[in-house]
Parts: sequence; structure tokens; C-alpha cells
Amino acid sequence: MAEPTVAPNVSPRLDAEEVLASLSRYQQALSRHMDWLQGWYRAVLNWDNASVAHPDAGAASCHFHTWYHAAAETKLASFPGFAGLGALHEEIHYKAEQVTARATAGQTVTTSDYEAMMSLVLNFSMAAQGLEREVWKVLATVDPLTGLGNRQTMASYLVGERDRAIRLKQSCCIGLADIDHFKKINDTFGHAQGDKVLRAVAECLRNAVRPYDVLYRYGGEEFLVCLPAANLEAGAQVLERMRAGVAALALHDDKGVAIPVTATFGLTGLTADLSVEEALERADMLLYDGKRNGRNQVVVHSDGG
Ligand code: GH3
Ligand code: MG
Ligand code: MG
Repeated sequence: MAEPTVAPNVSPRLDAEEVLASLSRYQQALSRHMDWLQGWYRAVLNWDNASVAHPDAGAASCHFHTWYHAAAETKLASFPGFAGLGALHEEIHYKAEQVTARATAGQTVTTSDYEAMMSLVLNFSMAAQGLEREVWKVLATVDPLTGLGNRQTMASYLVGERDRAIRLKQSCCIGLADIDHFKKINDTFGHAQGDKVLRAVAECLRNAVRPYDVLYRYGGEEFLVCLPAANLEAGAQVLERMRAGVAALALHDDKGVAIPVTATFGLTGLTADLSVEEALERADMLLYDGKRNGRNQVVVHSDGG
């Protein structure tokens, strides 16, 4: 049985819109958190007569806390830097609470208290920047409409999968999918409905693959799937599942008029005798055979063809 492959280098299920919205709330929360810290410093160091704010990491008044708990339910929580940022945030409040207690009891706030707090805040800021970098790095690899990998990252991924398959003497195949008469869908139902179809097809393709298969938006209404550790027979089954799923989508426009959607597929191996570009060209030729033969079908490479 095939060994499990490495995790794909892009997250195929990232909802870019959701992550961007969360990121914008995050920046607001960070900025308000820094405002709170500034006020806290002033109060604790007696730079003005403000009363010492109660620094409770779990307090509803902490915007960062509120943001963090809401974000924990989103994709942002899956980024490696997310958990560390939350832990640093707790540490800041814990330290602030200790210092506040001493200040309110009339004890001196020492230079080392100040420095410890500064160091925590610095670590927190660096972790925040790190998380943002992680997010932007992933967003740069994702197609915003469908959440699939974009074409920019596809080539290097396929080269890696081909090398891996050759090294491990495993099969690996690639499939290309192209929505049938998509121009007509746009022309009949409008571009927004066309976008809705693209999202629905992408979701349908996702539902047909295994966790370690990778999907890319290859072009406007074209998708590529890479199926590691799958021979042509297994790959054909996956693509047939995709074809049937797309044909069964039952989409409607805003007035309830049915939008008929089908797609045509080409499947070939990612093998030692072909470069990735040649394999892509072959998949494309097979797909166009399917278009010529009536669309809504899967065309699989055979040694004779
Ligand atoms: P065929 O069955 O031969 O594939 O015909 P087709 O109409 O699907 O192919 P064609 O290449 O003529 O049309 C593709 C259309 O996809 C044209 C382009 O305007 C549309 N398109 C490309 N990107 C997007 C997009 O992001 N959103 C929408 N709504 N349409 C797009
Ligand atoms: Mg096309
Ligand atoms: Mg098309």
C-alpha cells in the first residue's frame, strides 16, 4: 500500500477572505492593546494621575483577548505562530497584574519590573509580526476566489512530487479539469453567477480528493489536481467522482433558474519519461479530446495515445 505523502506546500482549504477579515480585526486589536499598554505604563509609573487599569488577560475590556478568542474559531488558529502569541499575551497581563498590585499597595516599581515588561512586550510584538508574515506568505500562494492553490506555486510543487514519485518508485498522476461552456454561463447568468459556479466547482473537487492530494486553480475556469501515490486507474476513479459531482451540482441563479454545469477532464501520469511541462501538455491534449468528443467526460492517457 502506498505510504502517506508529505503535507502539501499550500493549504488547499484556506479561505483567503476569512483570513483577511480576521487579519484586519487583528491589526485593530493589536493597536488597541498597545494603547492599553501605554496607559498602563503611565499609570503605574505615575506619569499622570490616572488610576491603574486592571490588567486582566481574560477581561472583556481587553480587545486583544476578545479578538484572540474569536480568531481561535477561524483558520488563523491553524497558523504556527497563533498559539505562541496567545501565550505571550497572557504573560504580559500576568506580569502587569503583579506590578499593578505592588504599585497600588504603594510599593516602588523597579527598573527590573519595567525592563521585564518591556521585554515581554517586545517578544509579543515580534511574535505578532511573525504571525502576520506567516499569513501573508500563505495568502500569496492562494487563489482568493476559490481558496485553492494558485498557479504561481504549482510548478515547483509538481516538480517536487514528480521527483518524489520517481525516487520512491511510486505512481503519481495529474488531472486537468475545464468547466464546459463556461463563457456561456457568464453570458447567460452574469459574471457574479460565474464566480459562484467557480467556487462551487472548486468545493466539489475538494470533496472528491484525499487529504494529501493537492488542487490548484490552473487558469480562469481550469483546475489541476495532483494525486500522489495514485496510478492511472485510481486517478481515473477520483476524476470520475469529480465529474459526477460537478454534473450533480444543481446550482440556481438568484431567480431560481437552474445553471447547468459540467466539466471535462484529462488525466496522465507524472512519470520519469516526461517533464512536468510535457505532462501538463499531455493532460491538456487529453482534455481537449474530451471537449471534441462531447464534453462532461474523463479522458485517461493510454500508452497508445
Ligand atoms: P469549453 O467548453 O470549450 O471549455 O468552453 P468555455 O466557454 O468554457 O471556454 P472559454 O475558454 O471560451 O471561456 C472561458 C471563460 O471563462 C472566459 C472568461 O471570461 C471566463 N472566466 C475566466 N476567469 C473567470 C473568473 O474568475 N470569473 C468568471 N466569472 N469568469 C471567468
Ligand atoms: Mg478553458
Ligand atoms: Mg471551459
